[in-house]
Amino acid sequence: MGIKVDLEKCIGCSLCVRACSQNAIAIADKKAVIDLAKCNLCAACVEACKKYQAITIVKDASAKAADISAYKHVAIFVEQREGVVAGVSYEMLGEGRKLADQLGDKLVAVLLGNNMHAVANDLIKFGADKVMYYNGAKLAAFQDDSYGQIMSEFVDKEKPSIVLAGATAIGRSFIPKVAARVWGGLTADCTKLEVDVEKRLLLGTRPAFGGNLMATIICPHHRPQMATVRHKVMKQAVRNDSRTGEVVVVDIEDSALTIRTTVASIVKEAGATVNITEADIIVSGGRGMQDPKNMQLLFELASVLGGAVGASRAAVDAGWIPYSHQVGQTGKTVCPKMYVACGISGSVQHMAGMQSSDFIIAVNKDPNADIFQIANLGIVGDVLEVLPALTKAFKEQLGK
Ligand code: FAD
Repeated sequence: MGIKVDLEKCIGCSLCVRACSQNAIAIADKKAVIDLAKCNLCAACVEACKKYQAITIVKDASAKAADISAYKHVAIFVEQREGVVAGVSYEMLGEGRKLADQLGDKLVAVLLGNNMHAVANDLIKFGADKVMYYNGAKLAAFQDDSYGQIMSEFVDKEKPSIVLAGATAIGRSFIPKVAARVWGGLTADCTKLEVDVEKRLLLGTRPAFGGNLMATIICPHHRPQMATVRHKVMKQAVRNDSRTGEVVVVDIEDSALTIRTTVASIVKEAGATVNITEADIIVSGGRGMQDPKNMQLLFELASVLGGAVGASRAAVDAGWIPYSHQVGQTGKTVCPKMYVACGISGSVQHMAGMQSSDFIIAVNKDPNADIFQIANLGIVGDVLEVLPALTKAFKEQLGK
């Protein structure tokens, strides 16, 4: 795809300039000029120019002929916060290693940070053949502009065939921008990755139509083939200290980065003591908890079990608990050893985020609730009675 200004129709009104969030359009000689390096083809200018119809998005007829033969190897974006690599990145390393081996390719880990040389070396032990470590003070914390710029430059220069990242707040924020810039194809939120070795195609599977079916998506005509993948659906790479590989350090000066935003401060969410994606035990509540004050019953049981509290979207939307606790298709995917669903009906969207839990206990007053279809243990009863009873029983059993 591309974008075109019809100079006959353009009157230089600058409506498009105001509509462009990327600062990609300027008026020169009373005509709009689009900087293609900045444009992300969002079509906001096309909408703004509806009256004059001077700007059009053009589908490139030669797209099929794009040269994809130069692209090789599997790359992983390694996510870090405050210098600590995210769990999902170890999962990507494990999955990426598998795909690279099947294709006979190398696995390249891409790390952006500041003074993280030791971590960069460590990524080799977790399966990478090569690590591209971009080191710079302004890369310490994630920002869309800087990370998008570096990842796009990495793809343009190294030409990986496959690029994987976690479907986290960070991955979801900037990977689509990278895909648009490098003309790659992105399948977001995958729950399964495979490769067609003969055609060298990535097969990215993700829930579609509200989780009612699984769609497998391919990108046959463009490279790289990109995918973001949900946390906890794939196995983490296992450390192997005998592995060796190449670590390339690229120092990035502040002046080399174009960043339009400033991070004033990073505030951790108050009260979020346990990250639900890391918890072994989750006690989740839904609309059946009936009142925000009853959510305390979930915290009491979770505390006795040493677990975390999750929630359905209904409970989050009601404002009973912050979004960071939401489990499901538009929340977090979790895979704890035990998941206790309290007053949750078992919608497909909720189950998409927790059905791979090792052991599921459901508490619901409706014996026909869908959640019982996937529960290992079902308790038909009122959560307001069952939860305190469970907390008491576990307290006694665990001597707490
Ligand atoms: P309900 O469906 O209303 O169920 C409440 C349950 O509580 C019922 O089964 C009832 O029998 C039981 N109950 C009531 N009172 C008691 C009691 N006293 N004791 C015991 N049981 C009781 N939902 C998610 O959870 N996560 C997501 O990420 C998500 N993403 C979505 C994305 C899309 C695009 C869409 C369209 C929807 C999404 N949803 C998601 C919403 C989802 O469809 C459901 O609406 C939601 O999961 C329902 O939450 P619930 O089970 O708490 O509420």
